Amino acid sequence: MFNKIDHIGIAVKDLESANKMFGALSEIGLLKIEKVESEGVMTSFFKVGDTKIEFLQSLDPDNAISKFIEKNGEGLHHIAFEVEDIDNEIIRLKELGFEMINTQKKEGADNKYICFVHPRSTNRVLTELCQDKASPPAPLLQRGEN
Ligand code: ZN
Repeated sequence: MFNKIDHIGIAVKDLESANKMFGALSEIGLLKIEKVESEGVMTSFFKVGDTKIEFLQSLDPDNAISKFIEKNGEGLHHIAFEVEDIDNEIIRLKELGFEMINTQKKEGADNKYICFVHPRSTNRVLTELCQDKASPPAPLLQRGEN
């Protein structure tokens, strides 16, 4: 089950100008800039309430963001939903017949495990699932005081 919209991803040609634009548009300060080696992208995040906006600039002319911009121009790229257990969600969605771009979780930006569902399965909306690495299920503390 999805918990919430974690972030909305926007593909841009120039991260710096996108950051300036969004800062002026929203009056919100930049949260962070992060390079994601595995995806060949530079990302920036703005926190808007309980959700984030992620801007993505490609560092590699052959990667998914470059191809997206070539085909569609800049703009909305994906919606990311937070889940508790990404491994179980991948299994659940595969069983339901969703076409997964990633059949295993991978390292994403913002300290997350991520995977993508192919837009062919989701009314042409690239859908990301993400799980916070910093919040594994909390183990019950056994203090033995009773
Ligand atoms: Zn994302």
